[in-house]
Amino acid sequence: MSYSKGKHFPVSRRSLTVQIDPYSSSRATPGGITLRTGLIVGNWKMNKTASDAAIFIRALSERLHGLSSHVELVVAPPFTALHAVRTALDASSPLQLGAQDMFWEDQGAYTGEVSAPMLVDLGCRYVILGHSERRTLFGEQSDGIRKKIRAALKHGLRPILCIGESLKQRESGTTDDVLTQQLKESLPGFTAEALDGITVAYEPIWAIGTGKSATVEQAVAAHQTIRRVMATTISPAIADSTRILYGGSVTPQNIASLLASNHVDGALIGGACLQVDSFATIASVASAARSIGV
Ligand code: PEP
Repeated sequence: MSYSKGKHFPVSRRSLTVQIDPYSSSRATPGGITLRTGLIVGNWKMNKTASDAAIFIRALSERLHGLSSHVELVVAPPFTALHAVRTALDASSPLQLGAQDMFWEDQGAYTGEVSAPMLVDLGCRYVILGHSERRTLFGEQSDGIRKKIRAALKHGLRPILCIGESLKQRESGTTDDVLTQQLKESLPGFTAEALDGITVAYEPIWAIGTGKSATVEQAVAAHQTIRRVMATTISPAIADSTRILYGGSVTPQNIASLLASNHVDGALIGGACLQVDSFATIASVASAARSIGV
């Protein structure tokens, strides 16, 4: 069976026996092939109290026990549940902690906001930035998203930058232009070195929470555009190593076909991450899809 990671490098699946380091998003093999570690992120949005979250995490960790570490698994609860989730995670849980947003300043008179150092202190490793709900419901603009990316990277948080087109934009044939513009507006002024560790989530707005996922072909085409734009505007190496997730009505039923493409490095999941069974099933399908050399 042919298996390729990175660009244009078909390799034998059996010829690669690679220990995945969960704390490194990619690595080069002796053959010069970039292997991107799979990443599954559950965005809880405004769901679950701290008490509910603790119960949920214990049940989920039990279901994930023994899962091989071919993918990174991240949960992004509301701010109010971060501490409870961290406390409920035992040392053997494969789950990592992420946040759904943050402000770009470290501290100060910014009522209602939380900062990168606060999230790091709570054990967060990832932060979702520029989610379409933040853009459309709360008026977030690319300029602010860029400042948040900068602050997250400065404090060692890994940003997950969300971009995606509306239905109107897709139907008018401007998807590529929209993705290009969102990337160019969010990522200027960064060195390639600084952006090492960023993740991009392609989330077509029309697919979020609608039950209507993008087709594999639509997702792959968008991911190729994102990688191409990153190669020309940042660097080919960063384009090659950056993980690009698909998000929008991912379910236990469609995750395998999405991850069968080497262009899709993982998924950002909303609704389906709220039940133990569906998130655990997605995690285990993703782990099997990303197991290499077995
Ligand atoms: C999301 O909000 O990021 C998302 C992908 O939601 P859902 O999976 O429910 O479509």
